[in-house]
Amino acid sequence: MSQAPIFPGSVDAAGQPATLGVMGGGQLGRMFVHAAQRLGYFTAVLDPDPTSPAGRVSHYHIQTAYRDENGLAQLASLCAAITTEFENVPADALQTLAADRPVAPGGAAVAIAQNRIEEKAHFTASAGVAGVTCAPYAVIESPAQLAAVPADLLPGILKTARMGYDGKGQVRVKTAAELAAAWAGLKQVPCVLEKLLPLKAECSVIVARGWDGTITGFAPQYNVHVGGILAVTAAYEGNMPAALAQRARAATESIANHIGYVGVLCVEFFVIDDGSADGALVVNEMAPRPHNSGHYTMDACDVSQFDLQVHAMAGLPLPQPRQHSPAIMLNLLGDLWFDAADQLRTPDWQAVLALPGTHLHLYGKLEARAGRKMGHLTVTGADVDGVTAVARQAAQLLGLPGLDALQ
Ligand code: ADP
Ligand code: MG
Repeated sequence: MSQAPIFPGSVDAAGQPATLGVMGGGQLGRMFVHAAQRLGYFTAVLDPDPTSPAGRVSHYHIQTAYRDENGLAQLASLCAAITTEFENVPADALQTLAADRPVAPGGAAVAIAQNRIEEKAHFTASAGVAGVTCAPYAVIESPAQLAAVPADLLPGILKTARMGYDGKGQVRVKTAAELAAAWAGLKQVPCVLEKLLPLKAECSVIVARGWDGTITGFAPQYNVHVGGILAVTAAYEGNMPAALAQRARAATESIANHIGYVGVLCVEFFVIDDGSADGALVVNEMAPRPHNSGHYTMDACDVSQFDLQVHAMAGLPLPQPRQHSPAIMLNLLGDLWFDAADQLRTPDWQAVLALPGTHLHLYGKLEARAGRKMGHLTVTGADVDGVTAVARQAAQLLGLPGLDALQ
Protein backbone atom coordinates (compact mmCIF):
# COMPACT_ATOMS: atom_id res chain seq x y z
CA MET A 1 0.00 0.00 0.00
CA SER A 2 1.24 3.49 -0.66
CA GLN A 3 0.01 6.83 0.50
CA ALA A 4 0.79 10.20 -1.05
CA PRO A 5 2.54 12.28 1.59
CA ILE A 6 0.43 14.83 3.42
CA PHE A 7 2.74 17.80 3.79
CA PRO A 8 2.51 19.93 6.91
CA GLY A 9 1.64 23.53 6.21
CA SER A 10 -0.16 22.76 2.94
CA VAL A 11 -3.65 24.11 2.27
CA ASP A 12 -6.18 22.33 0.06
CA ALA A 13 -8.33 23.89 -2.69
CA ALA A 14 -11.12 24.56 -0.18
CA GLY A 15 -8.71 26.49 2.07
CA GLN A 16 -8.42 23.76 4.72
CA PRO A 17 -4.91 23.53 6.22
CA ALA A 18 -3.40 20.01 6.35
CA THR A 19 -5.06 18.54 9.44
CA LEU A 20 -4.39 15.25 11.25
CA GLY A 21 -7.14 13.70 13.34
CA VAL A 22 -7.16 11.46 16.37
CA MET A 23 -9.90 9.34 17.89
CA GLY A 24 -9.67 9.85 21.65
CA GLY A 25 -8.54 12.82 23.70
CA GLY A 26 -6.44 11.30 26.50
CA GLN A 27 -2.81 12.02 27.27
CA LEU A 28 -1.55 9.97 24.33
CA GLY A 29 -3.73 12.07 22.04
CA ARG A 30 -2.39 15.22 23.67
CA MET A 31 1.25 14.26 23.10
CA PHE A 32 0.37 13.25 19.52
CA VAL A 33 -1.27 16.65 18.98
CA HIS A 34 1.81 18.43 20.34
CA ALA A 35 4.07 16.49 17.94
CA ALA A 36 1.78 17.11 14.93
CA GLN A 37 1.47 20.81 15.70
CA ARG A 38 5.20 21.23 16.13
CA LEU A 39 5.62 19.96 12.59
CA GLY A 40 3.05 22.44 11.31
CA TYR A 41 -0.13 20.38 11.05
CA PHE A 42 -3.51 21.45 12.29
CA THR A 43 -5.14 18.83 14.53
CA ALA A 44 -8.63 17.55 15.25
CA VAL A 45 -9.62 15.42 18.26
CA LEU A 46 -12.84 13.44 18.61
CA ASP A 47 -13.68 12.87 22.28
CA PRO A 48 -17.00 13.47 24.03
CA ASP A 49 -15.30 14.91 27.13
CA PRO A 50 -15.08 18.73 26.92
CA THR A 51 -12.13 18.64 29.34
CA SER A 52 -10.16 15.89 27.54
CA PRO A 53 -6.37 16.50 27.69
CA ALA A 54 -5.95 16.42 23.89
CA GLY A 55 -9.17 18.32 23.15
CA ARG A 56 -7.91 21.26 25.20
CA VAL A 57 -4.81 21.74 23.03
CA SER A 58 -6.17 20.85 19.58
CA HIS A 59 -7.26 23.26 16.82
CA TYR A 60 -10.53 21.35 16.54
CA HIS A 61 -12.31 19.34 19.23
CA ILE A 62 -15.37 17.38 18.11
CA GLN A 63 -17.32 16.54 21.24
CA THR A 64 -19.46 13.59 20.21
CA ALA A 65 -19.64 9.88 21.02
CA TYR A 66 -17.12 7.72 19.11
CA ARG A 67 -19.82 6.17 16.93
CA ASP A 68 -21.77 9.39 16.30
CA GLU A 69 -22.29 9.63 12.52
CA ASN A 70 -22.13 13.43 12.44
CA GLY A 71 -19.01 13.51 14.60
CA LEU A 72 -17.25 10.95 12.39
CA ALA A 73 -18.33 12.80 9.21
CA GLN A 74 -17.00 16.06 10.65
CA LEU A 75 -13.68 14.42 11.55
CA ALA A 76 -13.36 12.90 8.07
CA SER A 77 -14.14 16.19 6.36
CA LEU A 78 -11.57 18.13 8.40
CA CYS A 79 -8.72 15.63 8.31
CA ALA A 80 -6.30 14.40 5.67
CA ALA A 81 -5.54 11.28 7.81
CA ILE A 82 -6.79 9.87 11.10
CA THR A 83 -5.28 7.81 13.93
CA THR A 84 -6.38 6.55 17.32
CA GLU A 85 -4.93 6.98 20.78
CA PHE A 86 -6.72 4.31 22.79
CA GLU A 87 -7.28 0.70 21.87
CA ASN A 88 -10.86 0.47 22.99
CA VAL A 89 -11.99 2.93 20.33
CA PRO A 90 -14.83 1.20 18.43
CA ALA A 91 -13.07 -0.62 15.57
CA ASP A 92 -16.17 -0.12 13.39
CA ALA A 93 -15.84 3.66 13.78
CA LEU A 94 -12.32 3.37 12.33
CA GLN A 95 -13.72 1.29 9.44
CA THR A 96 -16.35 3.99 8.80
CA LEU A 97 -13.65 6.68 8.69
CA ALA A 98 -11.47 4.54 6.42
CA ALA A 99 -14.12 4.74 3.69
CA ASP A 100 -13.24 8.45 3.32
CA ARG A 101 -9.72 8.93 4.61
CA PRO A 102 -6.46 7.07 5.33
CA VAL A 103 -6.75 5.62 8.85
CA ALA A 104 -3.65 4.29 10.63
CA PRO A 105 -3.71 1.88 12.32
CA GLY A 106 -6.69 0.35 10.57
CA GLY A 107 -9.79 -1.00 12.30
CA ALA A 108 -8.85 -4.63 11.61
CA ALA A 109 -5.52 -4.32 13.45
CA VAL A 110 -7.14 -2.50 16.34
CA ALA A 111 -9.83 -5.19 16.56
CA ILE A 112 -7.14 -7.87 17.04
CA ALA A 113 -5.53 -5.89 19.87
CA GLN A 114 -8.96 -5.51 21.51
CA ASN A 115 -9.45 -9.23 21.89
CA ARG A 116 -6.90 -11.35 23.76
CA ILE A 117 -8.08 -14.52 22.01
CA GLU A 118 -7.47 -13.08 18.52
CA GLU A 119 -4.31 -11.37 19.72
CA LYS A 120 -2.79 -14.63 20.94
CA ALA A 121 -3.69 -16.41 17.70
CA HIS A 122 -2.00 -13.58 15.80
CA PHE A 123 1.10 -13.80 18.01
CA THR A 124 1.34 -17.54 17.54
CA ALA A 125 1.21 -17.07 13.77
CA SER A 126 3.69 -14.17 13.65
CA ALA A 127 6.05 -14.02 16.65
CA GLY A 128 6.78 -17.73 16.44
CA VAL A 129 9.12 -17.16 13.52
CA ALA A 130 11.35 -15.15 15.88
CA GLY A 131 11.28 -17.97 18.44
CA VAL A 132 8.93 -16.12 20.78
CA THR A 133 5.82 -17.78 22.20
CA CYS A 134 2.78 -16.74 24.26
CA ALA A 135 2.35 -17.85 27.87
CA PRO A 136 0.62 -21.27 27.92
CA TYR A 137 -3.10 -20.50 27.89
CA ALA A 138 -6.61 -21.82 27.37
CA VAL A 139 -9.62 -20.04 25.90
CA ILE A 140 -12.66 -20.12 28.19
CA GLU A 141 -15.94 -19.24 26.48
CA SER A 142 -18.13 -22.11 27.66
CA PRO A 143 -18.61 -24.32 30.75
CA ALA A 144 -17.18 -27.22 28.72
CA GLN A 145 -13.98 -25.28 28.05
CA LEU A 146 -13.81 -24.34 31.73
CA ALA A 147 -14.07 -28.02 32.71
CA ALA A 148 -11.41 -29.00 30.16
CA VAL A 149 -8.73 -26.58 31.43
CA PRO A 150 -5.49 -28.53 31.90
CA ALA A 151 -4.33 -28.64 35.52
CA ASP A 152 -0.83 -27.47 34.59
CA LEU A 153 -2.18 -23.99 33.71
CA LEU A 154 -2.72 -23.43 37.45
CA PRO A 155 -1.84 -21.30 39.26
CA GLY A 156 -2.84 -18.86 36.55
CA ILE A 157 -4.36 -15.51 35.69
CA LEU A 158 -7.88 -15.36 34.29
CA LYS A 159 -8.16 -12.38 31.93
CA THR A 160 -11.27 -11.10 30.16
CA ALA A 161 -10.78 -11.33 26.40
CA ARG A 162 -11.96 -7.76 25.92
CA MET A 163 -11.68 -4.33 27.58
CA GLY A 164 -8.85 -5.14 30.01
CA TYR A 165 -6.16 -2.55 30.74
CA ASP A 166 -3.93 -1.56 33.66
CA GLY A 167 -4.57 -4.93 35.34
CA LYS A 168 -8.37 -4.52 35.18
CA GLY A 169 -10.48 -7.56 34.26
CA GLN A 170 -7.91 -9.99 35.74
CA VAL A 171 -8.14 -12.48 38.58
CA ARG A 172 -5.31 -14.65 39.92
CA VAL A 173 -6.46 -18.20 40.63
CA LYS A 174 -4.73 -21.17 42.26
CA THR A 175 -7.24 -24.01 41.98
CA ALA A 176 -9.97 -25.23 39.63
CA ALA A 177 -12.56 -24.12 42.20
CA GLU A 178 -11.09 -20.62 42.35
CA LEU A 179 -11.05 -20.53 38.56
CA ALA A 180 -14.73 -21.46 38.33
CA ALA A 181 -15.62 -18.84 40.95
CA ALA A 182 -13.52 -16.20 39.19
CA TRP A 183 -15.17 -16.90 35.81
CA ALA A 184 -18.60 -16.66 37.45
CA GLY A 185 -17.46 -13.38 39.04
CA LEU A 186 -16.55 -12.08 35.57
CA LYS A 187 -20.12 -12.95 34.47
CA GLN A 188 -18.81 -15.79 32.28
CA VAL A 189 -17.67 -13.43 29.52
CA PRO A 190 -15.10 -14.84 27.07
CA CYS A 191 -11.75 -15.13 28.86
CA VAL A 192 -8.30 -16.62 28.61
CA LEU A 193 -6.59 -18.42 31.44
CA GLU A 194 -2.84 -17.91 31.35
CA LYS A 195 -0.31 -19.85 33.32
CA LEU A 196 1.30 -17.64 35.98
CA LEU A 197 4.92 -17.32 34.87
CA PRO A 198 7.97 -16.55 37.01
CA LEU A 199 8.93 -13.17 35.53
CA LYS A 200 12.56 -12.13 35.57
CA ALA A 201 11.64 -8.83 33.98
CA GLU A 202 9.18 -7.14 31.63
CA CYS A 203 10.08 -5.21 28.52
CA SER A 204 8.40 -3.63 25.52
CA VAL A 205 9.35 -2.73 21.96
CA ILE A 206 7.95 0.18 19.97
CA VAL A 207 8.11 0.19 16.18
CA ALA A 208 6.56 2.33 13.47
CA ARG A 209 5.53 0.91 10.11
CA GLY A 210 4.71 3.00 7.06
CA TRP A 211 2.17 2.54 4.27
CA ASP A 212 4.94 1.13 2.06
CA GLY A 213 6.05 -1.42 4.67
CA THR A 214 9.11 0.51 5.86
CA ILE A 215 9.74 -0.23 9.51
CA THR A 216 11.74 1.58 12.16
CA GLY A 217 11.70 1.78 15.93
CA PHE A 218 13.36 1.86 19.30
CA ALA A 219 15.45 -0.61 21.29
CA PRO A 220 13.51 -2.55 23.95
CA GLN A 221 12.93 -0.84 27.27
CA TYR A 222 12.50 -2.46 30.67
CA ASN A 223 9.24 -1.84 32.52
CA VAL A 224 8.20 -2.24 36.14
CA HIS A 225 4.49 -2.54 36.94
CA VAL A 226 3.06 -1.88 40.38
CA GLY A 227 -0.49 -3.03 41.02
CA GLY A 228 -0.93 -3.84 37.30
CA ILE A 229 -0.04 -0.27 36.22
CA LEU A 230 3.25 0.80 34.62
CA ALA A 231 5.37 2.56 37.26
CA VAL A 232 8.89 2.79 35.78
CA THR A 233 10.51 2.47 32.36
CA ALA A 234 14.28 2.22 32.02
CA ALA A 235 15.85 2.74 28.59
CA TYR A 236 19.55 2.74 27.88
CA GLU A 237 21.98 0.94 25.66
CA GLY A 238 23.11 -2.37 27.07
CA ASN A 239 20.25 -2.64 29.58
CA MET A 240 19.34 -5.95 27.97
CA PRO A 241 21.41 -8.83 26.56
CA ALA A 242 21.93 -8.04 22.85
CA ALA A 243 20.55 -11.36 21.59
CA LEU A 244 17.37 -10.97 23.64
CA ALA A 245 16.91 -7.38 22.46
CA GLN A 246 17.33 -8.45 18.85
CA ARG A 247 14.80 -11.26 19.23
CA ALA A 248 12.26 -8.91 20.81
CA ARG A 249 12.65 -6.42 17.98
CA ALA A 250 12.41 -9.17 15.33
CA ALA A 251 9.25 -10.57 16.93
CA THR A 252 7.69 -7.09 17.07
CA GLU A 253 8.47 -6.43 13.42
CA SER A 254 7.01 -9.78 12.46
CA ILE A 255 3.85 -9.02 14.47
CA ALA A 256 3.48 -5.69 12.61
CA ASN A 257 4.32 -7.06 9.15
CA HIS A 258 1.99 -10.04 9.44
CA ILE A 259 -1.09 -7.77 9.43
CA GLY A 260 0.27 -4.97 7.23
CA TYR A 261 0.14 -2.68 10.24
CA VAL A 262 0.53 1.08 9.66
CA GLY A 263 1.47 3.41 12.51
CA VAL A 264 3.18 3.02 15.88
CA LEU A 265 2.84 -0.36 17.58
CA CYS A 266 4.01 -1.37 21.04
CA VAL A 267 4.47 -5.03 21.97
CA GLU A 268 4.94 -6.07 25.61
CA PHE A 269 7.08 -9.06 26.57
CA PHE A 270 7.96 -11.01 29.67
CA VAL A 271 11.49 -12.27 30.26
CA ILE A 272 11.19 -15.60 32.05
CA ASP A 273 13.74 -17.82 33.67
CA ASP A 274 14.26 -20.90 31.49
CA GLY A 275 17.61 -21.83 32.96
CA SER A 276 19.57 -20.00 30.23
CA ALA A 277 21.75 -17.00 31.06
CA ASP A 278 19.57 -14.47 29.20
CA GLY A 279 16.19 -16.01 29.94
CA ALA A 280 13.42 -16.56 27.35
CA LEU A 281 11.00 -14.10 25.81
CA VAL A 282 7.24 -14.51 26.08
CA VAL A 283 5.00 -12.13 24.15
CA ASN A 284 2.22 -10.70 26.32
CA GLU A 285 0.12 -8.13 24.47
CA MET A 286 0.20 -5.34 21.93
CA ALA A 287 -1.03 -1.77 21.93
CA PRO A 288 -2.01 -0.35 18.51
CA ARG A 289 -0.69 3.13 19.33
CA PRO A 290 2.14 4.95 21.09
CA HIS A 291 2.62 3.56 24.58
CA ASN A 292 3.31 4.76 28.11
CA SER A 293 6.62 2.85 28.04
CA GLY A 294 7.75 5.02 25.10
CA HIS A 295 7.23 8.41 26.70
CA TYR A 296 10.95 8.68 27.45
CA THR A 297 11.56 8.99 23.68
CA MET A 298 10.31 12.59 23.83
CA ASP A 299 13.27 13.63 25.97
CA ALA A 300 15.93 11.00 25.29
CA CYS A 301 15.69 10.49 21.50
CA ASP A 302 16.00 12.78 18.48
CA VAL A 303 12.70 11.43 17.14
CA SER A 304 9.91 10.46 19.55
CA GLN A 305 7.24 7.77 19.30
CA PHE A 306 4.70 10.55 18.66
CA ASP A 307 6.81 12.02 15.86
CA LEU A 308 6.89 8.56 14.29
CA GLN A 309 3.09 8.26 14.57
CA VAL A 310 2.73 11.58 12.72
CA HIS A 311 5.24 10.53 10.05
CA ALA A 312 3.70 7.08 9.56
CA MET A 313 0.09 8.23 9.12
CA ALA A 314 1.06 11.19 6.93
CA GLY A 315 3.22 9.08 4.61
CA LEU A 316 6.42 10.96 5.55
CA PRO A 317 9.81 9.20 5.83
CA LEU A 318 10.40 7.04 8.92
CA PRO A 319 13.91 7.84 10.09
CA GLN A 320 15.72 5.52 12.51
CA PRO A 321 15.52 7.33 15.88
CA ARG A 322 18.73 7.88 17.81
CA GLN A 323 18.68 7.77 21.58
CA HIS A 324 21.09 10.45 22.80
CA SER A 325 20.67 9.99 26.59
CA PRO A 326 20.01 7.14 28.95
CA ALA A 327 16.57 7.64 30.49
CA ILE A 328 14.36 6.54 33.35
CA MET A 329 10.68 7.43 33.28
CA LEU A 330 8.54 7.54 36.41
CA ASN A 331 4.76 7.52 36.04
CA LEU A 332 2.90 10.09 38.13
CA LEU A 333 -0.42 8.68 39.30
CA GLY A 334 -3.15 10.63 41.06
CA ASP A 335 -2.16 9.03 44.39
CA LEU A 336 0.67 11.58 44.60
CA TRP A 337 -1.84 14.38 44.98
CA PHE A 338 -3.02 13.05 48.37
CA ASP A 339 -1.16 13.14 51.68
CA ALA A 340 -1.23 10.46 54.41
CA ALA A 341 -4.45 11.96 55.79
CA ASP A 342 -6.03 11.77 52.30
CA GLN A 343 -5.96 15.56 51.92
CA LEU A 344 -5.27 17.09 48.49
CA ARG A 345 -1.77 18.49 48.03
CA THR A 346 0.51 19.60 45.22
CA PRO A 347 3.49 17.27 44.74
CA ASP A 348 6.81 18.98 45.48
CA TRP A 349 7.66 20.01 41.91
CA GLN A 350 9.96 22.72 43.24
CA ALA A 351 12.33 20.11 44.67
CA VAL A 352 11.98 17.68 41.76
CA LEU A 353 12.60 20.31 39.08
CA ALA A 354 15.74 21.44 40.88
CA LEU A 355 17.29 18.03 40.12
CA PRO A 356 19.40 17.91 36.94
CA GLY A 357 17.92 16.31 33.82
CA THR A 358 14.32 16.10 35.00
CA HIS A 359 11.54 16.58 32.43
CA LEU A 360 8.05 16.96 33.88
CA HIS A 361 5.03 16.22 31.69
CA LEU A 362 1.60 16.85 33.18
CA TYR A 363 -1.43 16.01 31.09
CA GLY A 364 -3.75 18.86 32.05
CA LYS A 365 -6.13 16.68 34.10
CA LEU A 366 -7.62 18.90 36.77
CA GLU A 367 -8.98 16.16 39.02
CA ALA A 368 -6.52 13.76 40.64
CA ARG A 369 -7.80 10.28 41.51
CA ALA A 370 -5.95 7.26 42.85
CA GLY A 371 -4.52 5.25 39.94
CA ARG A 372 -5.26 7.98 37.37
CA LYS A 373 -2.35 8.78 35.05
CA MET A 374 -1.73 12.49 35.69
CA GLY A 375 1.71 12.81 34.13
CA HIS A 376 5.21 11.40 34.01
CA LEU A 377 8.72 12.48 34.85
CA THR A 378 11.63 11.51 32.62
CA VAL A 379 15.18 11.74 33.90
CA THR A 380 17.98 12.02 31.34
CA GLY A 381 21.70 12.52 31.83
CA ALA A 382 25.16 11.77 30.57
CA ASP A 383 25.41 8.27 32.07
CA VAL A 384 23.28 5.51 33.55
CA ASP A 385 24.60 5.88 37.09
CA GLY A 386 23.82 9.59 37.16
CA VAL A 387 20.33 9.05 35.73
CA THR A 388 19.63 6.28 38.24
CA ALA A 389 20.79 8.44 41.15
CA VAL A 390 18.57 11.36 40.13
CA ALA A 391 15.61 9.06 39.47
CA ARG A 392 16.03 7.65 42.98
CA GLN A 393 16.10 11.13 44.48
CA ALA A 394 12.98 12.15 42.53
CA ALA A 395 11.18 8.94 43.51
CA GLN A 396 12.02 9.53 47.14
CA LEU A 397 10.89 13.16 47.07
CA LEU A 398 7.58 12.17 45.49
CA GLY A 399 7.11 8.86 47.32
CA LEU A 400 7.10 6.79 44.12
CA PRO A 401 7.37 2.98 44.05
CA GLY A 402 8.98 0.62 41.57
CA LEU A 403 12.59 1.69 41.19
CA ASP A 404 13.92 -1.02 43.49
CA ALA A 405 12.59 -3.66 41.14
CA LEU A 406 14.96 -2.48 38.38
CA GLN A 407 17.86 -4.82 37.86
P1 ADP B 1 -3.11 -5.20 31.01
O1 ADP B 1 -3.90 -5.21 29.75
O2 ADP B 1 -3.91 -4.83 32.19
O3 ADP B 1 -1.80 -4.46 30.88
P2 ADP B 1 -1.44 -7.59 31.12
O4 ADP B 1 -1.83 -8.87 30.48
O5 ADP B 1 -0.33 -6.84 30.50
O6 ADP B 1 -2.76 -6.73 31.25
O7 ADP B 1 -1.10 -7.89 32.66
C1 ADP B 1 -0.72 -6.87 33.56
C2 ADP B 1 0.51 -7.28 34.34
O8 ADP B 1 0.24 -8.50 35.10
C3 ADP B 1 1.71 -7.64 33.51
O9 ADP B 1 2.42 -6.47 33.13
C4 ADP B 1 2.48 -8.56 34.43
O10 ADP B 1 3.17 -7.82 35.41
C5 ADP B 1 1.38 -9.35 35.11
N1 ADP B 1 1.09 -10.59 34.36
C6 ADP B 1 0.20 -10.72 33.35
N2 ADP B 1 0.16 -11.97 32.86
C7 ADP B 1 1.05 -12.69 33.56
C8 ADP B 1 1.48 -14.07 33.55
N3 ADP B 1 0.96 -14.95 32.68
N4 ADP B 1 2.41 -14.45 34.45
C9 ADP B 1 2.94 -13.56 35.34
N5 ADP B 1 2.58 -12.26 35.41
C10 ADP B 1 1.65 -11.82 34.54
MG1 MG C 1 -0.09 -4.87 29.80
